[in-house]
Amino acid sequence: MTFDYDLFVIGGGSGGVRAARIASAEGGAKVALAEESRMGGTCVIRGCVPKKLMVFASEYPEQVQDARAYGWDASVGSFDWTRFRGALENELDRLEAAYRGTLLNAGVTIYDTRAVVVDPHRVRLADGTEFSVKHILIATGGRPFVPTVPGAELAVTSNEMFDLETLPKRALVVGGGYIASEFACILHGLGVAVTMMYRGASILRGFDDEARGIVQTTMQARGIDIQCGVDVAGLHKAPGGIVARGTDGSMQEFDLVMYATGRLPNSGGIGLENLGVGIGVRGQVLVDEWSQTAVPSIYAVGDVTDRINLTPVAIREGHAFADTVFRGVPTKADHQLVASAVFTQPELGSIGLSEEAAKRQHSEAQGPIEIFAASFRPMKSLFAGREDRVLMKLVVDQASQRVLGCHIVGNGAGEMIQLAAIAIKMGATKADFDRTVAVHPTVSEELVTMRKPVRVV
Ligand code: NDP
Repeated sequence: MTFDYDLFVIGGGSGGVRAARIASAEGGAKVALAEESRMGGTCVIRGCVPKKLMVFASEYPEQVQDARAYGWDASVGSFDWTRFRGALENELDRLEAAYRGTLLNAGVTIYDTRAVVVDPHRVRLADGTEFSVKHILIATGGRPFVPTVPGAELAVTSNEMFDLETLPKRALVVGGGYIASEFACILHGLGVAVTMMYRGASILRGFDDEARGIVQTTMQARGIDIQCGVDVAGLHKAPGGIVARGTDGSMQEFDLVMYATGRLPNSGGIGLENLGVGIGVRGQVLVDEWSQTAVPSIYAVGDVTDRINLTPVAIREGHAFADTVFRGVPTKADHQLVASAVFTQPELGSIGLSEEAAKRQHSEAQGPIEIFAASFRPMKSLFAGREDRVLMKLVVDQASQRVLGCHIVGNGAGEMIQLAAIAIKMGATKADFDRTVAVHPTVSEELVTMRKPVRVV
């Protein structure tokens, strides 16, 4: 049987674009991709990329303050949100065009419209056009989840943060995960008075306790009002702004309320429900280790599968799928020891087991864990009179001396963890770290100079 396309990809985000490109350019497949919004998906258009540019923008006031301590006659001045937003929009246009160009160069046909699955070998575009297709890849990503509280419609999510007409004076960020913590720091850096409301005891649940503790304390010391153990019970409009009623009975007024309470997979309304594709409780498309669903011709990668919701993981999943199905190279995406960074100020870089997870999952089964940690005030900010502390931490299996986890807090932690991740992925032992001569004077040299465990758990 001949098909209109060998592969039809639904979703032009990181995972979908990679899969389409490899299947077409390297696998010789006839490929089409449909995207209903802007090419590039969450990461490029309303996630990692604009977020990181906002992080850069937000860091300047502190850098200028520090410059004064280093002898410069510098002052911050005011921040022009409209000017920044215009430049940001231009950059996103450039990136979007680059993504589109990459696909076209690879020979992929692009449909700028919504597509749904009709049956295991048929897709339909919004205008009714149908195509027969050999394989379908669902790469539709995720969307912000906002809990049902009265007045929730008054709040925005990260999707809207890049398009704000004006910057608020007072902002409430609800949640304590990656997005909440990063935006709290960004807004604070841009001069907004920021409150975070988080239902748990301490933000960034799931990361190493000591590391997230330092991030939280530093954010608070810089002036972010982090209210833990309290959630929003309701929002209502008032003459001066939006009033948030806390579950503790408090009433606080803000100009902007942003919810960052997790994301849900975009699996609904694309025709999967009736085909036998498994959908999990969070709405995630259920796939096996080859990213294949229960319907053999339908695969899914990225956030819609809710495995590890990070751009580079989606890219790996998309690439592995294309290698397997179109290049004759069976490849499973590797979900072990994936490093990540939270771009708060200070940054948090992390890979492998936290101290708590190691204690819980590892030490009972395999023996004690040695914790090596150094926390100190780094030279650069100490000189500028800041109290900031960095953390360098290794979680080590006592018996094998293998490094099971590494957690870094401080400026550049994202860059540092990327490099530490190579060694840890290779199976480095503590002795391997110690054999490496320090680069002096750096912050990261502490990773290779910690001689004795601070505790054994
Ligand atoms: P997270 O899962 O990281 O955090 C969600 C937060 O919302 C948690 O603090 C959670 O609390 C809270 N929450 C969840 N449900 C409710 C509710 N019903 N009421 C009140 N609070 C609630 O999600 P994010 O939205 O921050 O980010 C989504 C994903 O995007 C991340 O998991 C990550 O994979 C990815 N991402 C990665 C980034 C990076 O690599 N730098 C940056 C941004 C996003 P609790 O802890 O109690 O469950």
